[in-house]
Amino acid sequence: IPVERIRNFSIIAHVDHGKSTLADRILELTGAITKQEGQHQVLDNLQVERERGITVKAQTASIFYKYKDQQTYLLNLIDTPGHVDFSNEVSRSLAACDGVILLVDACHGVQAQTVANYHLAKQRNLIVVPVLNKIDIKHAQPEKVIQDLQFLFQIDPKTVLQVSAKLGLGIKEVLNRVIESIPPPQVQREQEFRALIFDSWFDKYRGALNLIYILNGHLEQGQEIQSMATKKIYPLKTISILRPKECDVKSLSAGQVGLIACNMRNSKESIIGDTIYLKNQIVQSAGNYTPQKPLVFAGIFPVDQSKHVALRSAIDKMILNDSAVTLMVDSSPALGQGWRLGFLGLLHMEVFCQRLEQEHNAEPIITAPSVTYRIVLNNPRMIKQMGKNTLDISNAALFPEPSNIKEYYEPLVMGTIITPSEYVGQIIALCIDRRGVQQSSINIDETRILMTYVLPLSEIILDFHDRLKSLSSGYASFSYEDHGYHLTNLVRLDIHLNGRPVEELCRIVHATKATGIARQMVHKLKDLIPRQMVQIAIQACVGSKVLARETIKAYRKDVTAKLYGGDVTRRMKLLRQQAEGKKKMRMFANIRVPHETFINVLKR
Ligand code: GDP
Ligand code: MG
Repeated sequence: IPVERIRNFSIIAHVDHGKSTLADRILELTGAITKQEGQHQVLDNLQVERERGITVKAQTASIFYKYKDQQTYLLNLIDTPGHVDFSNEVSRSLAACDGVILLVDACHGVQAQTVANYHLAKQRNLIVVPVLNKIDIKHAQPEKVIQDLQFLFQIDPKTVLQVSAKLGLGIKEVLNRVIESIPPPQVQREQEFRALIFDSWFDKYRGALNLIYILNGHLEQGQEIQSMATKKIYPLKTISILRPKECDVKSLSAGQVGLIACNMRNSKESIIGDTIYLKNQIVQSAGNYTPQKPLVFAGIFPVDQSKHVALRSAIDKMILNDSAVTLMVDSSPALGQGWRLGFLGLLHMEVFCQRLEQEHNAEPIITAPSVTYRIVLNNPRMIKQMGKNTLDISNAALFPEPSNIKEYYEPLVMGTIITPSEYVGQIIALCIDRRGVQQSSINIDETRILMTYVLPLSEIILDFHDRLKSLSSGYASFSYEDHGYHLTNLVRLDIHLNGRPVEELCRIVHATKATGIARQMVHKLKDLIPRQMVQIAIQACVGSKVLARETIKAYRKDVTAKLYGGDVTRRMKLLRQQAEGKKKMRMFANIRVPHETFINVLKR
C-alpha cells in the first residue's frame, strides 16, 4: 500500500468516554473481527480494565478499509492508556501518529483528561478529529458539548461528528473523516531502513516483542537489525502486523506499524524510544520521542535473600510488559539486596505489585513510595566525594543529615481540574491543603469550571484523585503533567516500633506537615498492626525528636479462647484469618506487621 493511502491515528478520550467500544466497532466494521469476537473482546477488555481501572496493555490494530474512491486504505489505530496516572504516557503512542480522534462523551462533556490529551496532540501538531459519543443516551447534550469544544479548543462546530459506539451509529463517517482530514505519514521509502520502537512486551516463547513505527525504507524477513541504544545486532525472527490478531508478513515499509520478534531477552535490550536500523548502517535517531519519566519510586526487596533470583526474574518479565516501570539496583542495611522501581503514579505501582503477586507468586517487601527530591549539599567533603553538589534522591533512607544540606527542591505538577460549580469551594480547600497554587479558573459554561493548579507531586500521588472524586460525588476530573522543581523545606520522618526504625515506613515530608503526618501515621499504624504478645510502642520522629506516639497493648488471652463452646463458624473464621495473616507478615524483632500495612498507612 502506497504511503498516500496510510493513516496513523489514535483515539484520545477521558476514561469511560467509550474509546474501547469505538475501537471494537471500527474493527467490526472493517471485518478485522466478527461481531461475536467484538462482544467477547469488549467483555474481556472491560473486565480486566474495570478490575484495575486502567488499560493494562495497549491494543494496536492495522485495519484495511475500502474508502469511497474504491481504494483500500491502511489505517493503523494506535492505542493510548486511559487513566490519570498515565496521561504523560499518551505521548509515546502519539509518536507514531499524524492525527487523533478526540472522543467526548455527549452526556458528561469535556473532562480533565480530554483537555490534557488535546494539548498533547496539539503540541505534536497532530490533526484533531472531534467526535461526540453516546448520542443514543436520552439526556445526552450534544449541542452543549459542541459549544464547550468551540469555547475551549476553537473547534468549528460544523466539523464535530456524532456517534453511538454502543449501537454502531456513525462509525463509517468517522473512518471517512480520518482519511480525509488526517495526512498520510511524512516518511521516505527510498532511504535506509529506520524505525522507532514505541511499545514492547514479553512473550514466554519468543522473548521481547517490539512494536515499531517505520520512518524510512523497508524491513524484510531474514534481515539483521541493530539497536542504536545498545549497538547489539539481532537476526529477525518474525515480522507481523496486528489486525488485531498477529498476522505474519514478509516485509514492512515506511509509514507502517508492525511487530517484530528478534530474540531480545529483557528490558535492557528492548528499549522503548530506541531506534533500530539494518546492521552496520548509519542513520539518524528516530528520536522525536523521549521516554516517559517515572514520577513515583519505591524499594522492592525479597522477604529473604533466597528469593532474590526468583524475584528478579519476575520483575524483569513484568517490566517487559510495562515498560514505563524503571529499575535500579538498591540495597539497604535492614532489607538486604533489592531494587528501586519507578512508576507513573500510585495506581500504577499498586497494579504492578498486585500482578507480581498474582501472576508470579512473589510476595516482596515494598517500601513507602516517594517522589524524587533534589538537594544541594553544603558539606565540602561530601561534595568532593560525590563530584557534584546536587543529588537526586528518591529513597528516604538515603537522605543525608540535615546539617549537610543547603537547599531542598521538590517536583511540581501542573494539574487540570474540571468540576461542576457546586463543588468548587471544597475542591479549592483540598488544593490549598495540598499546598496547591491556583493558576487559572474559567467557566466553561454556566455549570462547569476548569481550574489549573501547580501542586507538589508528593501531595497528589497518594490519594488526591480519590479525594477529589469523593468530594464531588465522582463528577470532578483531574489530570496532571510534569512542571519542574521548586525550592522547599523538607524533613525525614522515621517510624520506630519499640525503638527500632522501620525502614519501609521512613518518609520525606514537607516541614510544615511533619507533625500532622506523624500523628496520622502512628494513629493508622495502631489500627493496622494487630495486637500481639508484646506491647508495641509506635513513635514518629524527626531526628531525635518524637512528634507522635501510640501504644498497642499486649494480649492477655488467646483470641479464640472466649469463643470456645460458642459459634464454631465464627471461630473457624478467626483461625483462618490468623493463618492467612501469618503468610504475609513482616517481622520486626518480635513484632509482626501485615504486609499491606506499608501502603495502607500512607493513604489518608
Ligand atoms: P473507555 O474507558 O474510554 O475505553 O470506555 P469504554 O469503551 O470502556 O466504555 C465505557 C462505558 O460506556 C461502557 O459501559 C460502554 O458500554 C459505554 N458506552 C460506550 N459507548 C457508548 C455509546 O455510544 N452509548 C452508550 N449508551 N454507552 C456507551
Ligand atoms: Mg478502554
